[in-house]
Order: sequence, then structure tokens, then C-alpha cells
Amino acid sequence: MKLCAGWISAPIWDVLELAPSDYPAGLWPWRTCHVHYRGRAHAIDVKGWFIRRYELDDFLLRTSGASVHSGIAVKQVERDEDGFWTIGPLRARHLVGAAGTHCPVARLFAPARPMGPVGVQELELPLPPDAIARTRIGDNGEPELLLHDDLRGYAWNVPKSDWLNVGCGTLDPGEVRTAWAEARAHFERLGHLPAEASAPLDHVKGHSYYLFHPDHLDSAARVDADGKGGVYLAGDSLGLAQPLTAEGILPATLSGRLCAEAILGGDPASYPARLRAHPILDDYRRVFRARRRAG
Ligand SMILES: Cc1cc2nc3c(=O)[nH]c(=O)nc-3n(C[C@H](O)[C@H](O)[C@H](O)COP(=O)(O)OP(=O)(O)OC[C@H]3O[C@@H](n4cnc5c(N)ncnc54)[C@H](O)[C@@H]3O)c2cc1C
Repeated sequence: MKLCAGWISAPIWDVLELAPSDYPAGLWPWRTCHVHYRGRAHAIDVKGWFIRRYELDDFLLRTSGASVHSGIAVKQVERDEDGFWTIGPLRARHLVGAAGTHCPVARLFAPARPMGPVGVQELELPLPPDAIARTRIGDNGEPELLLHDDLRGYAWNVPKSDWLNVGCGTLDPGEVRTAWAEARAHFERLGHLPAEASAPLDHVKGHSYYLFHPDHLDSAARVDADGKGGVYLAGDSLGLAQPLTAEGILPATLSGRLCAEAILGGDPASYPARLRAHPILDDYRRVFRARRRAG
């Protein structure tokens, strides 16, 4: 089961070479974000979209053109004497690890992790649309955020017609359970959680993942001397989420694309350089530095 609130930002459409109107599954555009911070409420103009993560992943898999072998849990990755990586019945010279935080291919690399992961708890649950409509504070799809007083995390409450996504994330995974209890109490106190959500929200699920650090890019690729094979990391397996917002769908999609372009272009060793040169990751580097300066 994949945890994700499903927020996507504008650059994703360029990475996917898709217009929002061409996306066939649930899409909730929004122009206002309702932010609570230190006891005050603000309505901020920001453009974004929400999707349901299962639907986006299913759409990407179906339209990628790849031959999909589903239902194989990769436990062991081996390499034969001809330089082919083997996973069960599959053999290839190029191996891309994209299995998230606990990716077995990343374990081969043991990539440098200069900072710990962030901790997250979340539930996306189906509810009657009228129950969601009664408790939401803005239009359908508009997120409600609670910024933690110390800015070490935030919680969200996102209505998606007949689904509600509620969760929170903290810089230190050890703080996430307390933060979740406070966030839930906050949304309940305001009357912004339908009564029907109460019992399911006792069962939020937890996860952790790594925000972008410039050093992570050093582990993006190990290419064979002949350039015809290698092993690569993309998305959360490399640790690319936006260093302030923790947005991870965009960098996962982008890195997958840049990796594929490097391999298909016959120059797999250029993958780390393509990552470093891309304006989105260049921006992440700037945000990372600004965050570090701000302490
Ligand atoms: C609670 C929560 C909310 C979030 N909300 C947002 C958000 O709103 N917007 C946003 O942009 N980002 C969000 N993120 C971050 C985002 O979900 C991740 O950064 C993003 O999913 C990374 O994509 P990925 O493809 O690298 O890894 P994943 O999405 O983790 O995908 C890895 C895939 O590999 C599979 N897999 C794992 N291990 C194995 C194995 N051994 N064998 C075979 N398959 C395996 C998994 O089943 C999974 O399908 C959120 C994260 C969490 C935890």
C-alpha cells in the first residue's frame, strides 16, 4: 500500500508531456490553500492539483510502453558473469532502482545519507461526499494545512469528492506520532473532520523518506567501464524530495525520465549530470542551502 496525499505541482505536466485536461483519472485543481499557523488562519493563493496516487501510478504504468511484470517482490539482486543483472526470470545490463526508501537496489549502493529521513503518518479514506462537503472549509480539492509552531513539520486535510486524505509529516520521525495526535485534535476542534472519519483515523499508517541533499546525487549511477550496463537510483531510493515541502512525486517522475533518457541516449554515465543540470533540482539545491542557512 502506498501512502501519498497526491499533491502535484505545475512542472509535473511538462515532465509527463501531458496537459491536465488529458489526464483521465480523478484530478482536483485548487487555487487557494487554507493555512493555520500559530493560531491564525490564512487563505493563500497557490495553484496546484490533487490526484489519487493509485490512479496516477496505474495511469503511468499503463501508458509508459514498458512491459510490466507485476507481483514480483524483489528480495535479491544478482549479477552473472556476463554482466547481466538478474531478478527472478528478468535479466538486463541496466538496472534502475526505483522502489522507494527501502529499495533493494539502493541497498547495493549503500548511498550516503547525511541527514535522517522525515516521518509521515496518513490515511486516505472513502466517505460520503455530503459528509466531506459539510466539513471542508473551502472548495473541493482545496487543502487545509496546519504548520507546526516550530516549522519542523505540517499536517494536511484534503477533500477529494468522496475521499478524504489526512496526515502529517515531521523532520524527525520520532516526533510524528505526537504531531499527528495534535493535528487530529486541531482539525476535530474546528469541526473539519467528518464524524464518519473518526474510527478509521485511529488507524493511520506511517512511512519515512529522505529529502533532497546535494550529496545524494553522487550515488545516482554506477556505470560499467564499457558503458553498456550499470545500476542507477531514482526517486525516493536516491532521496530527492523537495527539501522544504517534501514533494516527492515530481522529482521521482523527473529522475525516472532523465535516467531513461540517459540510457536510451547511449550515455548512461550522463544521468547524474542531467540531474544536477535540471532547473528543478537546481532549485532544490538553492532551497536546501537557504534552509540550512536559516537553521
Ligand atoms: C504520507 C505521505 C504523503 C505524501 N504526500 C505527497 C504529496 O502529496 N505529493 C508529493 O509529491 N509527494 C508526497 N509524498 C512523497 C511521495 O509519495 C514520494 O516521494 C514518492 O512516492 C516517491 O516515488 P518513488 O516512485 O520513488 O517511490 P514509491 O512511490 O515509494 O514507489 C516505490 C514502488 O516500489 C515498490 N516496491 C518497493 N519495494 C519493492 C520490492 N522489494 N520489490 C518490488 N517492488 C517494490 C512499491 O510497492 C512501490 O510501488 C508523500 C509521502 C508520504 C509517505
